[in-house]
Amino acid sequence: MLGSLRGEATDLLSRLIQVDTTNPPGNETAAAELLRDYLEANGLECELYARTPERANVVARIKGRRDGPSLLLLGHTDVVLADAAEWSVPPFSGEVKEGEIWGRGALDMKSQVAANAVAIASLAREGFEPSGDLIFAATADEEVGDGYGLEWLCEAHPDAVRCDFAINEGGGDRLVINGVPVWVCTVAEKMSAPFVIRVRGRSGHASMPGIADNALVKSARLIERIAAYEPQREVQPEVAAFLDAVGLRLDTLTSPVDELVEPLLGPTFSPTMIAASRKRNIIPAVCEITVDCRLPPGTTPADVEPEIRRVLGDDVEYEIEFTEAQGGTRSPIDTPLLRAAEAFVGEVDPGSRVAPMITAGFTDSHWLREAFGTVAYGFFPVRMAPELMAALIHSADERIPVDDLELGTTWLRHAARTLLS
Ligand SMILES: [Zn+2]
Repeated sequence: MLGSLRGEATDLLSRLIQVDTTNPPGNETAAAELLRDYLEANGLECELYARTPERANVVARIKGRRDGPSLLLLGHTDVVLADAAEWSVPPFSGEVKEGEIWGRGALDMKSQVAANAVAIASLAREGFEPSGDLIFAATADEEVGDGYGLEWLCEAHPDAVRCDFAINEGGGDRLVINGVPVWVCTVAEKMSAPFVIRVRGRSGHASMPGIADNALVKSARLIERIAAYEPQREVQPEVAAFLDAVGLRLDTLTSPVDELVEPLLGPTFSPTMIAASRKRNIIPAVCEITVDCRLPPGTTPADVEPEIRRVLGDDVEYEIEFTEAQGGTRSPIDTPLLRAAEAFVGEVDPGSRVAPMITAGFTDSHWLREAFGTVAYGFFPVRMAPELMAALIHSADERIPVDDLELGTTWLRHAARTLLS
């Protein structure tokens, strides 16, 4: 890539970090305006879409000839809270030092937003004429998900973000497995389906435990059982493709690959919250345990409820209530977008491969898959060690090497040129 694009992406990321978009409250409009000014200066038309004025999304496009597929470069502009006391630089400084750009959002995910903007701006300057639309969208409210961002856009302004292919966050880590470099591309995600277990008893004064029936104490047994659960292992097609790509077998996995693969083989249940008596001297009549539950793509809460009841046993009475069911979508694996990624890593990292994967977490990709059947992948290649990245995301001293920002920008330009030529 030309040195100027490297500098351009660095400068834009640094300025984006300086806009505090901590969510809540978000205030993403300031970031949307910064991006609009940059994109318009490069000859692109932009539209701001906002459900409420201070939380705008920004969309730009290079119109295609309409004889090919469309590609959306997607990113979110909000970030999670940063406690300045834990940081070695001010978290909204966007400081560039020793080849790295520092600040909240440097990895998750203002880096990719900046790279998306520079990719489409530079292609516009070069007079790129895509076959289908090349679309840029920087959206609000991914981290909390109160419905100001992509979810709302898909519903209220579907024509702004409808696309055949999308590149989003959630993948692009480089692992070295058995000496072979592997770039992870996430093509599916687990469903987030938290539930509450409600146990009832009888209240009473804590000084006379014998007259009451303590719901909290009864709950303890259920917590232990749900936490000890080990699912029947089931290999999803994406996991099979991953193992195939890296040349490994499920029964011989070792660290760190087994830690990556294990949560993808079945449902996971993590009890995370509990509510019982609000008074120290009152024995609780009700206890509620909240369980973070993630299901493999294609599995529903109704599918898994009998299994949960089997695990909890029948000696304690309880009710189960699922409070949410989001995500759990997948895109096909064998697509031109995956082949574009393979061609790219083959060029920049000879001998390496792309391996499809399911993300145990959660991104905005599912809104596109659900609304438009989009092939949405998480793929923003970075060479930074995955362990370091995992330690910095949503944490102190978040930063990205300028080299990785440049690599990501090069990838996005490559993807647009490959898919839309
Ligand atoms: Zn993110």
